[in-house]
Amino acid sequence: MNVTFLGAARTVTGSCYLLETNNRKILIDCGMFQGHEGHNELNAEPMPFDINELDYILLTHAHIDHSGRIPKLYKEGFRGEIIATKATVELCEIMLPDSGHIQEMEYEWINRKRLRAGKPPVDPLYTYQDAVDCMECFRKVAYDEFIKLPGNITVCFRDAGHILGSSILEIWINENGQETKLVFSGDLGNKNIPILRDPTIIDTADYLFIESTYGDRLHQQNEDKVEKITNIILETIEKGGNVIIPSFAVGRTQEIIYELHSKLTKYDEKIKKLFSIPVYVDSPLAISATEVFRNNLDCYDEEAKRYIENGDNPLDFPTLKFTQTAQESKELNEKNEKMIIISASGMCEAGRIKHHLKHNLWRPESTILFVGYQAEGTLGRRILDGAQKVRIFGEEISVNARIESIDGFSGHADQKGLLDWINAFIKKPKKIFIVHGEENAQKVFVQKIKEQFNIKCIVPDKGETYSITPTRAVTITTKEQDKIYRYSRLQLLEYTQLIEEEIAGLSEKIKDIINEQTDDLAIEKILYKLKNLEKDIHSLTK
Ligand SMILES: [Zn+2]
Repeated sequence: MNVTFLGAARTVTGSCYLLETNNRKILIDCGMFQGHEGHNELNAEPMPFDINELDYILLTHAHIDHSGRIPKLYKEGFRGEIIATKATVELCEIMLPDSGHIQEMEYEWINRKRLRAGKPPVDPLYTYQDAVDCMECFRKVAYDEFIKLPGNITVCFRDAGHILGSSILEIWINENGQETKLVFSGDLGNKNIPILRDPTIIDTADYLFIESTYGDRLHQQNEDKVEKITNIILETIEKGGNVIIPSFAVGRTQEIIYELHSKLTKYDEKIKKLFSIPVYVDSPLAISATEVFRNNLDCYDEEAKRYIENGDNPLDFPTLKFTQTAQESKELNEKNEKMIIISASGMCEAGRIKHHLKHNLWRPESTILFVGYQAEGTLGRRILDGAQKVRIFGEEISVNARIESIDGFSGHADQKGLLDWINAFIKKPKKIFIVHGEENAQKVFVQKIKEQFNIKCIVPDKGETYSITPTRAVTITTKEQDKIYRYSRLQLLEYTQLIEEEIAGLSEKIKDIINEQTDDLAIEKILYKLKNLEKDIHSLTK
């Protein structure tokens, strides 16, 4: 059999792996590329095989970087089965149409720009309706159920503890009388996170495909994250600011609601103060997702189940408010009260959060509290990395707000979590493919696996195909490499265009500075920087 890496190879988005056996073609995940320069082109790229020949998509979980290209495949004619857990399917029912809507909005904006440049309009990747329609292909399965597929393939979905419905895939393939077992970790969760169970321990694998998002890092330990959140909220409210929490609508938002709920049920002075501040969940998707959480109680861990048994709803408290319409969302920024706003998207790339950032980033009394991973290239990452100014809706906004980040909320296992999970295999894999991670994280993680288990690791590139037998895994083709070269060439053009635009902006800014009677020292500094910039460009041209 062959496995081709079509995404999340040396990066964290676009999860998509093609498994080809003697007579079946199966995709494991079909996620969207996000956040990087050129991601639109990568998402639009045709699959390197005839999608009419594709039999199944096995979906590990509903996150868009794992599911987001499914409606595109449907639009292009795919009518095979998409198999996932019940909760994953229910989350896809709300997340994929939302993604379709975002695509339509984004392309409307792109097309306005193209029109001004005299270029013809382009189609969105898929529409809201395409995403609604593709749901007919989904099949719900239960955790731990053995699913027999034609072609001597058996699949089992195990709880990955990452988001509601998330799974680790165990796949047994019998070819020529010999069985090979592949395990795809999907995104692996953290232990002891609210609502969800810990990731399932897997006993055996011939080949393991493991994520490596935090392969080089340990999450902060011994930190009471709820205590830290409480303090940040109280300090901000005392200064008269708002707390803005960019959060994934699905998963993270419900965890925060759960944590605030558990804090608010323990009464003390500090908490009573916290009680009086309204907490707005400003994301229609988060509201629907909270409903899906309330419909899948069987996925909850023991603690969350206990709340329910005691007649308490762990996803609710008196000051929690949901804002459904865009008008209600806009009104939040006109209100003269202090508040906590939890809004999506989690990496600040789209959605209502951008409006709240625009209205709060410049205010020194407000706080932006990050509670999730910020991928390279996203607005969230730029803010977290200390950008002084950011561009939102074409407007330059100064970053004066307090920027905070709480690590403990990560939905991904850290290095120790990943290594402990590998360690629990009774029969260790022959080889481990390291996927879903940025280069440095992968490098460090490979080293750790070598030291601890002496297992050979492979860090596949996008487009690489590996031939897998019960005994060996070899790379055979790099056909897709051509495309990667073409895209890096396209990116060169995109970057030169970007630099041109930045320089135009810079000249405007400099004209302003000259008129503003800026002091001599500042002018000298700018001059020095410009000279260096000129040198860099000159040496590049040479
Ligand atoms: Zn995920």
